[in-house]
Amino acid sequence: MKTISYWEHQGFGKADWVVIGAGLVGLQSARRIKESYPKSRVLVVDEHALGNAASLRNAGFACFGSAGEMLDEVARTSEADALGLYEKRYLGIQKLLGRYGAEKIGFQASGGTEVFSHSDSEEADRVFGSLKYLNSMLHAVHGKDSFEICDTGSSGMNVINRGIFSPLEGGLRSHLLYQAVREDALKAGVEIYEGMRVSDWQEDEQSVKVQMESGLTVTCSRLLVCTNGFSKRLIPDLAVAPARGQVFVTKTLGKLPFEGIYHADKGYIYFRELGGDRVLIGGGRNLDFEAEETMEMVVTDRFKNHLKSYMESVVLPGKSIEFEYEWSGVMGMNENRNPIIGWHSNRVCLAVRMGGMGVALSSWVADEVLHVVERDLGV
Ligand SMILES: Cc1cc2nc3c(=O)[nH]c(=O)nc-3n(C[C@H](O)[C@H](O)[C@H](O)COP(=O)(O)OP(=O)(O)OC[C@H]3O[C@@H](n4cnc5c(N)ncnc54)[C@H](O)[C@@H]3O)c2cc1C
Repeated sequence: MKTISYWEHQGFGKADWVVIGAGLVGLQSARRIKESYPKSRVLVVDEHALGNAASLRNAGFACFGSAGEMLDEVARTSEADALGLYEKRYLGIQKLLGRYGAEKIGFQASGGTEVFSHSDSEEADRVFGSLKYLNSMLHAVHGKDSFEICDTGSSGMNVINRGIFSPLEGGLRSHLLYQAVREDALKAGVEIYEGMRVSDWQEDEQSVKVQMESGLTVTCSRLLVCTNGFSKRLIPDLAVAPARGQVFVTKTLGKLPFEGIYHADKGYIYFRELGGDRVLIGGGRNLDFEAEETMEMVVTDRFKNHLKSYMESVVLPGKSIEFEYEWSGVMGMNENRNPIIGWHSNRVCLAVRMGGMGVALSSWVADEVLHVVERDLGV
């Protein structure tokens, strides 16, 4: 039988807020709540150390959606949803930069480029033909054109010679961002406890009793669930499916002929230069959506070979590629990639479903969580 010490019970038995999930969303939301309600005790619990799910397993793109991806988004949802999502991501990155500063999170304003391989020339025509429409639709967000046609000739890639440049995008260093967010939360007085997996909770009129797998319970006034791709384990009927993303980083390759971040295949494939001599490449989920709808964080030979072949035929044609790092992470996905933020019940609030660009969304989401809390509970 599991036993709980007197000390564990004394130390963790009660809180004003419990936040489940120490990813970018949980930590920033906790910090915003603590700042606004400084007398409250805010605990963040996570089953893993160091944001194991996505926040330290992403590609570090500070991006809002390539032109091909935005067209796909409009077709899958609606113009209003696609525009709203683009705006949240754009504002989210501005908030991250405003809060932590570009240097602290390793942000490089390289811009982002969408490239098209020769076999995608029909898709390229469709996207180039829609740039005017997309630019006028997105103009309201920042008063500028989001997309410009650029020459890809000097990149050395085996792609058609025109690409689409997004001047406001860039790359950041995910470990620096995570450290900055975590330190900021701790400095604000948020308590973070790892190795605590929530198995369930019971809510009554006064409180929520949060049950840890270890047997410990924490009684709190409000619960905030920031479990993104893992949310279905706690709330099975939520419209958030897990979506695994696999990522690979090459061995050092010598000086590369390109820099910055790149999108291809409607955003399903993404790659970037790292440190000037390695390439990070990830994605390809559209190869097999069903297989990747999983919380199992492993890499598979099928995806590794697919991305290796893309590297050798498109990104660095003719070069033999070996990967030195490989990993996967889990996103929270749905046809509609707008996040779910709001009350699930009287005392349980949700901030989940960050789609493929939750780094960009996270600061915006944290502000929105606070907005919902202040609006409904008062300041
Ligand atoms: C491979 C990959 C590449 C990506 N690339 C980019 C990118 O370049 N740019 C971008 O903007 N976004 C990217 N993303 C998306 C982005 O990383 C995520 O959307 C973002 O990190 C989500 O943050 P989060 O805090 O909502 O969730 P997470 O970081 O997933 O955090 C959720 C936390 O909840 C914890 N948890 C879950 N269930 C429980 C439980 N029952 N009890 C306790 N703890 C629990 C997990 O351990 C986890 O730490 C990528 C994601 C992946 C997987």
